[in-house]
Amino acid sequence: MNSQNPVESPTNFIRNIINKDLEAGKHQSVQTRFPPEPNGYLHIGHAKSICLNFGTAELYKGKCCLRFDDTNPAKEDVEYVESIQEDVKWLGFGWSGAVRYSSNYFETFHQSAVELISKGLAYVCFLSSEEARVYRGTLKEPGKESPYRDTPVEKNLVLFEKMKKGELKEGECVLRAKIDMASSFMCMRDPTLYRIRFETHHQTADDWCIYPMYDFAHCIGDAVEGVTHSLCTLEFQDNRRLYDWVLEHLNAFNKPDRPHQYEFSRLNLEYTVMSKRKLQTLVEDKLVSGWDDPRMPTISGLRRRGYTPASIRDFADRIGISKVDSITDVALLETSIRDDLNVVAPRTMGVINPIKVIIENYAEDSIETLKAPIHPQNEGMGKREINFGRELYIDRADFEEVAPNGKYKRLALNKEVRLRNAYVINASRCEKDSNGNTTTVYCTYDADTLGKNPSDGRKVKGVIHFVEATTAVEAKFMLYDRLFIDANPGKSDNLESLINPNSCQSATGFVEPSMIEAEVEAAYQFEREGYFCRDNQSDSLVFNKTVGLRDTWNQ
Ligand code: ATP
Ligand code: MG
Repeated sequence: MNSQNPVESPTNFIRNIINKDLEAGKHQSVQTRFPPEPNGYLHIGHAKSICLNFGTAELYKGKCCLRFDDTNPAKEDVEYVESIQEDVKWLGFGWSGAVRYSSNYFETFHQSAVELISKGLAYVCFLSSEEARVYRGTLKEPGKESPYRDTPVEKNLVLFEKMKKGELKEGECVLRAKIDMASSFMCMRDPTLYRIRFETHHQTADDWCIYPMYDFAHCIGDAVEGVTHSLCTLEFQDNRRLYDWVLEHLNAFNKPDRPHQYEFSRLNLEYTVMSKRKLQTLVEDKLVSGWDDPRMPTISGLRRRGYTPASIRDFADRIGISKVDSITDVALLETSIRDDLNVVAPRTMGVINPIKVIIENYAEDSIETLKAPIHPQNEGMGKREINFGRELYIDRADFEEVAPNGKYKRLALNKEVRLRNAYVINASRCEKDSNGNTTTVYCTYDADTLGKNPSDGRKVKGVIHFVEATTAVEAKFMLYDRLFIDANPGKSDNLESLINPNSCQSATGFVEPSMIEAEVEAAYQFEREGYFCRDNQSDSLVFNKTVGLRDTWNQ
């Protein structure tokens, strides 16, 4: 058993618990689960839980099931069931066996409820929800016992059967556990186990009109599947008492190796809302283009933006697992993607805000093909061909008529600059439109400077990127930035007022001709501009900006 303990790998408090449990012989193997509610798309917070659950199982050569926690048919949809599976797979994880649904266990939940009723541990309660709220008491005051608490077992069995058969109205009554109305844990004050809902369920259609509550269903689902360590976020800390109570009072599940719940702190990210309800609001109020808007913290949004599975897994590793509530700096997520793309992304050139350059001493109608490295630090990635000719595009930001100061390293009149992967050019004059904006810069090039690096004795300070104009391909650049201007947008109910007005800007420019073949979602570094990927929803050539080359948010 000790051979299973991954003692060398970096640890966390959950692994410490698992190691102890394995050593003590409490469990022979490790089983976790990822239990999303299919009521929205997965977000980066879920990715933390996915990496923890699937990652821990992988580490111990155990199992991790994907279980849809589908006990609330009103809010759920198969669209979400499908997107969640796709997102988990895309992150690089596979679940053990078939996809599970809590609804697979509706019979078991029902039998368990009947067992509790038979043991005098559950009763049908007809208090209205308002009355039940008053009876529950407060954190300072104990609750009051329901007048239905002492209904005889036989009568409760009959009433519960009537609930199940649809003979009682929605909201008329609920099944409650009989625990302790004076408990200091509110969740132990005779919590609801089952309620009536006349809703068609996406998996079980109209088979059931009673649905179990999360606290009742979750622990039984874990026990049925053989989960050993049930990992959830801190807000369920109190509910652990109920988790244990339910399993301890059911004959089939009250065993030494029954599952136990452990809580870790959820991921909160600056400048990001994370609750599915708020994300849904953004989608419904059309503040974003959909769940996969590249500014959304959803897995599908991050994917469309150009994040890679490796970067998200790396981010999960960097934030680690603890019980301390905190807010993570978005720069950390951006560092994870930048570090990944710096190594893997092929280099290319794209001009986002083009102005024309005419090389007056270059032959007309002649195009030459130059070679440029696909990755400057990785020769093994080979070379690409780039075109050079008389007409080029450079970025508007790379030209000033008069250099603003001695440190200026771009193109200015009577100044030299090196074109990346090509020649040194010198600007002689420019043309402007009626608004005073430069339209064309006339230059000469030095044919002797090809392929020589900036230390070829020419004292050329700057290097700018370009594309050859007649062969370049037009492309749209989506320049995304953080969706919110406020570091903690979740605290506000008016999300619209906190949207960053510059979070989605676009520009039409030009890219190297080979980029017409760019695969969707594949990452590229447009040299000097940042990392981009081809949009997975557009037929035309659209590149989404994933992240800049450096962290410039606070500069
Ligand atoms: P939300 O509050 O965003 O609606 P949720 O907890 O209701 O999330 P579930 O579908 O129930 O969403 O979550 C599935 C799993 O993902 C749960 O185990 C939950 O604890 C975990 N999870 C959800 N949000 C986060 C987060 N921000 N950080 C870490 N784990 C999370
Ligand atoms: Mg939930």
